[in-house]
Amino acid sequence: MSYRAWFQCSSGCDERYELNEIIYNCKKCGGLLEVRHDIEKLKHRSPESWMRLFDERNRRTKWPFGSAVWGKKEMVCPNVENNNVVSLYEGASNLFWAERLGNIIGTEDLWIKQCGNSHTGSFKDLGMTVLVSMVKQMISEGKDIMGVACASTGDTSAALSAYCAAAGIPAIVFLPKNKVSTAQLIQPIANGALTLSLDTDFDGCMEIVQKVCTKNNIYLANSMNSLRIEGQKTVSIEVVQQLDWEVPDVVIIPGGNLGNVSALGKGFLLMKELGMINRLPRIVCVQAAKANPLYQSYLKGFKEFKPIRAQKTLASAIQIGNPVSFNKAVKILKMFNGIVEQATEDELANAAALGDKTGLFNCPHTGVALAVLFKLVERNEIKKDERIVIISTAHGLKFTDFKVKYHENKLDEVESKYANTPIELPPEYDKVEKAILDNVADLN
Ligand SMILES: *Cc1c(COP(=O)(O)O)cnc(C)c1O
Ligand SMILES: [Zn+2]
Repeated sequence: MSYRAWFQCSSGCDERYELNEIIYNCKKCGGLLEVRHDIEKLKHRSPESWMRLFDERNRRTKWPFGSAVWGKKEMVCPNVENNNVVSLYEGASNLFWAERLGNIIGTEDLWIKQCGNSHTGSFKDLGMTVLVSMVKQMISEGKDIMGVACASTGDTSAALSAYCAAAGIPAIVFLPKNKVSTAQLIQPIANGALTLSLDTDFDGCMEIVQKVCTKNNIYLANSMNSLRIEGQKTVSIEVVQQLDWEVPDVVIIPGGNLGNVSALGKGFLLMKELGMINRLPRIVCVQAAKANPLYQSYLKGFKEFKPIRAQKTLASAIQIGNPVSFNKAVKILKMFNGIVEQATEDELANAAALGDKTGLFNCPHTGVALAVLFKLVERNEIKKDERIVIISTAHGLKFTDFKVKYHENKLDEVESKYANTPIELPPEYDKVEKAILDNVADLN
């Protein structure tokens, strides 16, 4: 069975292009492209048989199907030959029942999908494996590609650098100076990428990288390149698979450039079309109040969209004022009875910290998702017995500066409700024992 996928204009003109063509926008109307699959071919296999196949492949050794992205290759990117797949065994991150945090806020069925437990510490690996594999495929077919470039708020550049390093393809990353964490900055450096630190914000980097890629044989790796969306959509398949093929009621996801929320919806729609699931969850997209163009548009019923200048936020990976995938995201949110909500710096930092106290180790973006969860439960927009999945987008260890400052109560606009400070002591038994006995009852 030969499965097929292609780029198709998503702005209504339906022009098609091959996946191995270097193209990001429709030549006819300039619209964003979307990867489409030959659904009839995919329907030749029964839903049960797809589920069994995905379960059998998951985390096994047979190349490249042990990766949770490539284990679903037929639905992701069948056009790449197996020997051109660049995989670091991505996906299959843990999904766990956050019982204690759920109890604290009054919900019974709260789950956290730890997408940050991945090779480079964020969900960006899911999409980057597909994009870099397609580049390797094109190079093997003789296409002249000098390198791959992206603008990034930190995690995209880490993922691009790692996958390019694994494949031996040059990577060029554009980072807004002083706006990414130390851990995020060191990843592309360590992986040998050409790391360009520009005195601007993400949107400023984006403008230049697009121009560089248009004028040179450099492939653009930002999420306007819809190959990444194909990999990222596996997160919804994975969540459903991990819940024994049951659909949750609500999924909450942080949004910046809005590729991820689009991908999340696309995965659910594909499963529904193929009969693997029979209903859709509600999707909640969350933003930092300092960078909330989608939220502002939501308040006006999505009737208008104005790019904004994103202000500095602790949730630095979603500090984006002019999201490329705005239209795709709105389409998805309308189909999924969507909600958009925001969180302030104080709300996101304290929500992340409360989660940490129950055993999590949250990045600030996951903090935004948790803060919104708390609000929606409080407002009874999410019911007590609903099954909720939080998409945790990055590993907390990438954001230790944020956490250290939180516990020192030194973050701007944040009053650290759950600060925990180390007690400095001389190495004297009596004083140590007293410090334990004075404090242990106040823990938790
Ligand atoms: C990229 C990123 C997001 C946002 O994803 P978009 O596709 O840009 O909306 C959220 N959280 C983290 C940690 C990210 O790296
Ligand atoms: Zn078009």
